[in-house]
Amino acid sequence: MIQRENFRKEADRILDWVDGYFGRLRELPVKSSVKPRDIYDKLPSEAPLQGEDMERILQDLDTIILPGVTHWQHPSFHAYFPANSSYESLFGEMITAAIGAQCMVWETSPAAAELEQRMTEWVADAIGLPKTFTGVIQDSASSATLAAILTAREKATQFRSNLDGVPRGLRVYCSSEAHSSVEKGVGVAGIGRNNLVRIETDAEQRMIPEQLEKALQDDIAAGLTPVCVVAAIGTTGTVALDPLPEIAAICQKYNVWLHVDAAFAGTALLLPEYRYMIEGMELVDSFVFNPHKWMFTNFDCSLYYIKDPESLVRTFDILPEYLKTATRGLVNDYRDWGIPLGRRFRALKLWFVLRGFGLEGVRRRLREQIALNEYFAEKISRSGRFTLLRKPFLGFTLFRVNDDDDSASERLLAAVNASGKAYLSHTKVNGRYAIRFHSTQTYIQKEDIDRTVETLHQF
Ligand SMILES: *Cc1c(COP(=O)(O)O)cnc(C)c1O
Repeated sequence: MIQRENFRKEADRILDWVDGYFGRLRELPVKSSVKPRDIYDKLPSEAPLQGEDMERILQDLDTIILPGVTHWQHPSFHAYFPANSSYESLFGEMITAAIGAQCMVWETSPAAAELEQRMTEWVADAIGLPKTFTGVIQDSASSATLAAILTAREKATQFRSNLDGVPRGLRVYCSSEAHSSVEKGVGVAGIGRNNLVRIETDAEQRMIPEQLEKALQDDIAAGLTPVCVVAAIGTTGTVALDPLPEIAAICQKYNVWLHVDAAFAGTALLLPEYRYMIEGMELVDSFVFNPHKWMFTNFDCSLYYIKDPESLVRTFDILPEYLKTATRGLVNDYRDWGIPLGRRFRALKLWFVLRGFGLEGVRRRLREQIALNEYFAEKISRSGRFTLLRKPFLGFTLFRVNDDDDSASERLLAAVNASGKAYLSHTKVNGRYAIRFHSTQTYIQKEDIDRTVETLHQF
């Protein structure tokens, strides 16, 4: 067990490791190529009885663990979505771990609750949310969406479901392109996955509002109860934007909760030129986006905004004797704003990022990354070997190899990813294979794009 007098010496070793890691990141294979059980079999089957030196642990970190790590902070990581970190965020996270506070209620760390409140306000202002929204930091967009579905369920059932169980016939709606967390949430909420209605999308993967209205009418006519609609601002597959004003008007008309999932694309709202994406936001009930995706703040940090926080708190609050405090009602006890009781001090890293970068610093970097994506799209489309399937958008490009046979794209992706030189992912667009590319890694440079384009041409 490390004692206080050795902390500095040991910590220096760790800092050296982290610094060395960032230094050699570009030389490491982006995607791990280990086989199932490779890592597991290298680990001893029993925990050590006696303490070991940090030095030995770090050696094993390099030899056993690192080969099994896929490097999300690698500038050639273009897959899935970004899960960005930054030096500022890392510093905040280190201090959060050092303080090690459980921020379940205001009294267990008043600064955590109040910094969280301030940070949600800073960001709400910075992204142009209407003043009517109140924010809270959740661990993930999945949790926030579940919170929205549960709150909508309670509202639709006069807060009886929590007490008596969930009645049959509740319905939730999202597009066929919505994130899997919606389906999971509907199941967890006891509504039943078969009561999630998947609304058809148009050729650009956007929910068709007329189809939504028709589904609502059919359900109401059949005696079912619409509870919640989840619209996506930036779907996971193709970053499609559901038409919010039309959807919001329909939800208003049928008095249905509207939740907006902007997990990735929400960060772009920091740029005024993208605010059009949330036109109609005044009519929305709840909204989530992940600073832990594109906002340089390492996982986990998901911002959840809600118009009627009282209904959220009423859905979640529960008050055992040991949690009774004298300040209850005067302050935000965030345990009542989500599912877990225990909460990390997540606001701290967001504070470090927002102050360290400044809003203009964040905006500059976002615009640079968006420009890098356009540069990438331009380069690959000029080569004649690829077709762009969308106009490059928000640091994201969707393309495929010019070939009637999808296996050409599939083979290329497999070869590139196996090379360790770059990592891209795929989706299906209107039934056909498509390659997804992101230019949104925190420290990505033009040279990284050039290298990835070169890699794409090597196979
Ligand atoms: C990434 C993503 C999610 C899931 O986010 P978590 O924070 O990992 O739960 C949900 N919705 C969309 C649109 C996403 O892109």
